[in-house]
Amino acid sequence: MASSNDKNYNRARDRELGMDRDITRRDFLNGMAIGAGGVLAGAWLPGMLDAQTAATGQDALGYYPPTLTGMRGSHPGSFETAHAVRDGDFWEKAGKPVDTGENYDLIVVGGGISGLAAAYFYRKQTPSVRILILDNHDDFGGHAKRNEFRPGGRLLLTNGGTVAIESPFPYSKQARELIAELGIDPPAFQKEYTDRDAYQGMGFAYFFDKETFEAERLVTGAPSGSGRGRTAGGKWADFLAKTPLSAEAQKDIVRIQEGEVDYMTGVPQAEKKSRLSGMSYKDFLLNLIKAHPEALKFYQTRTHGLYGIGIDAVPALDCWAIHFPGFQGMGLDREPSKGLSFTALGEVTPQEEYHFHFPDGNASIARLLVRSLVPGSAPGNTAEDIVTAKMDYNRLDHSDSAVRIRLNSTAVAVHHAGDKASAKTVEVIYGREGKVYSVRGKGTVLACWNVVIPYICPDLPPEQKQALRYGVKVPLVYTVVALRNWTSFHKLGIRGVSCPGMYHSSINLDQAINIGEYKPSRSAEDPILVRMLRTPCQPGLPAREQQRAGHYELLATPFETFERNIRDQLARVLGSGGFDPARDIEAITVNRWPHGYAYEYNPLWDPDWPQGKRPCDIARQRFGRITIANSDAAAAAYTDQAIDQGYRAVQELLSR
Ligand SMILES: Cc1cc2nc3c(=O)[nH]c(=O)nc-3n(C[C@H](O)[C@H](O)[C@H](O)COP(=O)(O)OP(=O)(O)OC[C@H]3O[C@@H](n4cnc5c(N)ncnc54)[C@H](O)[C@@H]3O)c2cc1C
Repeated sequence: MASSNDKNYNRARDRELGMDRDITRRDFLNGMAIGAGGVLAGAWLPGMLDAQTAATGQDALGYYPPTLTGMRGSHPGSFETAHAVRDGDFWEKAGKPVDTGENYDLIVVGGGISGLAAAYFYRKQTPSVRILILDNHDDFGGHAKRNEFRPGGRLLLTNGGTVAIESPFPYSKQARELIAELGIDPPAFQKEYTDRDAYQGMGFAYFFDKETFEAERLVTGAPSGSGRGRTAGGKWADFLAKTPLSAEAQKDIVRIQEGEVDYMTGVPQAEKKSRLSGMSYKDFLLNLIKAHPEALKFYQTRTHGLYGIGIDAVPALDCWAIHFPGFQGMGLDREPSKGLSFTALGEVTPQEEYHFHFPDGNASIARLLVRSLVPGSAPGNTAEDIVTAKMDYNRLDHSDSAVRIRLNSTAVAVHHAGDKASAKTVEVIYGREGKVYSVRGKGTVLACWNVVIPYICPDLPPEQKQALRYGVKVPLVYTVVALRNWTSFHKLGIRGVSCPGMYHSSINLDQAINIGEYKPSRSAEDPILVRMLRTPCQPGLPAREQQRAGHYELLATPFETFERNIRDQLARVLGSGGFDPARDIEAITVNRWPHGYAYEYNPLWDPDWPQGKRPCDIARQRFGRITIANSDAAAAAYTDQAIDQGYRAVQELLSR
């Protein structure tokens, strides 16, 4: 993996890269705002932050987390309390909780789309209720995070996490109704607001870095698609001839992309599929197609965006389902079959077009939910006007509101007030800005991550706690770089680059969405947002171990290391187009998600449990007045799944 190892970087190179330049992240100490008007997130650092946080918090004037840059996603201050609970040293420092005296009908732990949807459904069925939503981050939405920039004074938006309204399977009735009630019509919006002309004539490229491929080269005009006659942008052989790949690797890539060979001649269809689901795509390329190992480097990171891991850990059958090359001659029918993961099964299940993404991704769904839950939290009344609406964070936790959203608040204990069978309330204890508080609710939806629940709810049965611990969320990083202009992309004729050997495996210009008052960048002279993807996986290990290792890596990597790698990568990839990182970069946000995608079961690594016996089925059982939502409860990293789980958790509470 090519990365600019910190100690090898001398000051001169740092200056070239612009490490000394005054970008917005300079106001941040490892992602935490320290300047005037900045905010401090609610860290569990007893005794340290009190003086500062007293004057800040979500009620402070000017509190507006979407514009924060630097380390976002799981930002510093958001996870320390939960980690202290995990490590067993929280309670010895915590002291006795302060009783807020607050009583709610429902307390939701987790202000992501699942938790917000749970509050929405609960109130829809019982309108006069009082609800408290707690979230450990400084913003609501969980993975539905909005990143807001103003390079050159112009508003530019993007998603810090979840991007698109789409799913492998059709949205359920409840999820569809919720989306419609919020005023979103995905197919119509897709047609009307997606600006397809923004990057006309600009294509995709591959960057071959010298550390991985021996010679360094940007090769434009990358074909897309696989199989005979299905390439766009040129022929594979012509494209590959420009790369530093050996002649043998080139020949094998052409075979993979365009060959029409059945590598399991005479094997029945079902058996073929079964064998392919039991081997990785890497093994398929290596052992069946007998591709040169150098050719594999070209494909290694291709599954990163969807799976968060490389081709060594994704089943070949899944890769067939998601249209990877190599299977053209194998005569596989596109029918749903056993041995596919959730995502891949959806790919072979026909469904209507139902997708759209807002400029800030699914953060707009979260914002629409909050606007409908908390009166006065945002102006406007359409799905279009939410895009540029400024949320009033000071309104979110007001005593005059039936629904309150309390940020920077980590639930540390959730238990029935008395015996589970007869208790009338649940007590929720949370840490916030160095203090501990308690509140009561008639019911609680835990819309937080499965892995957290056994620590905060130790009364659960052992089998359920074990099941909650099974899945390991997929770590990933969505980096956003605000550029003063995109003339280098324009000059090179590219809108996206795949970088299979580098720190970030892809670089893309943000998709242009023209909605409401929001206007994306249209001229190459204008500022733009560039999106980069990093998945910190460890090829060779089983999937869950890769994810654990990635989790620790992300938390241990300082912002400076990200920044140096970002500048270095952009300089190397776009340098021939005139890009100068010191001059052209205006701001950087690293959306770090150590606990990213919900863990999806993967036929390579997980047993084939009978329906109803999967860990997520056992994990999400109701426990008295406590129910469990979140996309982990579906073992599927999709927005509709998060909504569905919120709905189910609420029905379980209301039907008691
Ligand atoms: C980078 C990324 C991109 C994605 N892209 C897409 C996409 O394009 N389309 C799609 O459909 N899905 C996508 N997903 C999947 C996404 O997870 C779901 O879409 C959905 O947003 C998950 O919502 P949730 O509420 O279940 O979980 P989350 O959004 O994770 O919300 C749970 C919240 O609970 C909080 N929490 C945890 N513990 C505690 C505690 N003890 N106290 C208080 N709060 C706590 C968490 O910090 C978090 O804020 C993506 C996910 C990621 C990470």
